Amino acid sequence: MIPGARLIILGRQGAGKGTQCVRLSRHFVVPHISTGDMLRAAVREGTPLGRAAREVMDSGGLVGDEIMVGIVRERLEHDDARTRGYILDGFPRTVRQAEALDEITADRPLDGVIDLDVPRDLVLERLSARRVCRDCGTNYVASGHERQQRICDVCGGDVMHRDDDTPEAINHRLDLYEQQTSPLIEYYGGAGRLMVVDGVATPDTVFNELTAAVEASRRN
Ligand code: AMP
Repeated sequence: MIPGARLIILGRQGAGKGTQCVRLSRHFVVPHISTGDMLRAAVREGTPLGRAAREVMDSGGLVGDEIMVGIVRERLEHDDARTRGYILDGFPRTVRQAEALDEITADRPLDGVIDLDVPRDLVLERLSARRVCRDCGTNYVASGHERQQRICDVCGGDVMHRDDDTPEAINHRLDLYEQQTSPLIEYYGGAGRLMVVDGVATPDTVFNELTAAVEASRRN
């Protein structure tokens, strides 16, 4: 394994992307840049960005492209991302964002774009049971029989049910994915930059396929 990587992980929310991105970021020793985590932190801190984004997020909508591109442009300038790379999770979500990212990364091209493919009905099932560590983003599956709030095994943070994991917001997010984000499959596929990994298998199998896809893209 060569440390460092510049990767985008695409896929429906609930495809297991968050957990796989956390693992990939440790494996390749690069920051995991999740725009959803950054927005949730801004909401918690009550910053102007957080106040503007909260309602859109709770309804399952998309925050405006200009705001999102600005956040990512600024984050990718940090030393860790410049020197080691990054795993981008949740960005880009529209063709406009992808075009802006191409400009931002023109001098440091991506190693690859991976679509973590999980069908919509399975994702709906998984999202309803999803719980997430609010500090490090590790995902858990609720059994429905929990008596007390869970603490994250990785960092000790609070494991929460996300405000936007209601059935209405989940369906809205999945509709938006079909309309706004799935065109990215063609955007990157057409440019020969896309790898598709089946996200239905066990987490360990999916992880091994993801790392194999990255290593293969580097050999080409
Ligand atoms: P996620 O954690 O990636 O599911 O993101 C949670 C929410 O944050 C999304 O449902 C959107 O409201 C917002 N969000 C995150 N990333 C983006 C993005 N790249 N573009 C627009 N909205 C975003």
